[in-house]
Amino acid sequence: MSPLEAPISDETHRTARERLVERFRHGPGAIHDERVLAAMLATPRHEFVPENLRRDANRDSPLPIGHRQTISQPSLVAYMTEQLRPGPTDRVLEIGTGSGYQAAVLAPLVAEVYTIEIVEPLGRQARETLARLGYTNVHTRIGDGHAGWPEAAPFDAVIVTCAPDAIPQPLIDQLKEGGRMIIPVGPQNDLQDLYLLEKRGGEIVRQAILPVRFVPMTSGKD
Ligand code: SAH
Repeated sequence: MSPLEAPISDETHRTARERLVERFRHGPGAIHDERVLAAMLATPRHEFVPENLRRDANRDSPLPIGHRQTISQPSLVAYMTEQLRPGPTDRVLEIGTGSGYQAAVLAPLVAEVYTIEIVEPLGRQARETLARLGYTNVHTRIGDGHAGWPEAAPFDAVIVTCAPDAIPQPLIDQLKEGGRMIIPVGPQNDLQDLYLLEKRGGEIVRQAILPVRFVPMTSGKD
């Protein structure tokens, strides 16, 4: 095995994560929530990416996870997580499990995470990874996330990591009054705006368009 192919130890990955997370504290879009920073540090991103890309797992860049899907760069995951204001008793719904990484970041921050993936092999692989790593408060489902997860509703927060054309009504219905939703809006295969919404009086109202762009979710690589 050439040095390039040699596996990287968990410790080396952790050191690389420490450096990355330290950078999140500074500059525009800096993360201030210590709980979120701790979750980013604790979550082994390399376990959620294909083996041949593990070397790049702790760089702040999006990575393809197969089936033409991509996971966001860690700084964006941290930012979205902070914007959700996750609290220890919260129940959170995620649409678009992908690799399971975002769900894993949320897991230590909230009581329960429910996550739905439409591409079956991705859903199965994420379920396996999350189980192997001991994320017992993450519940996975394979199916169309636009229907939400009525049996587990209502949710304190909903995070959508695929970009539907409109906000699916079941996701609004299943959000608690005062609950927050993050959802990317914009053309597929192009940069998307991230909307932060809140439920007020049964209606969904826009809080902000976040000052970061969501990377398109198709990588073109399988
Ligand atoms: N949050 C993921 C990255 C998601 S990429 C992570 O941390 O790894 C977006 C994912 O949404 C893809 O896996 C895609 O297959 C999935 N997806 C797209 N449309 C969906 C739908 N209607 N319901 C559930 N998942 C969907």
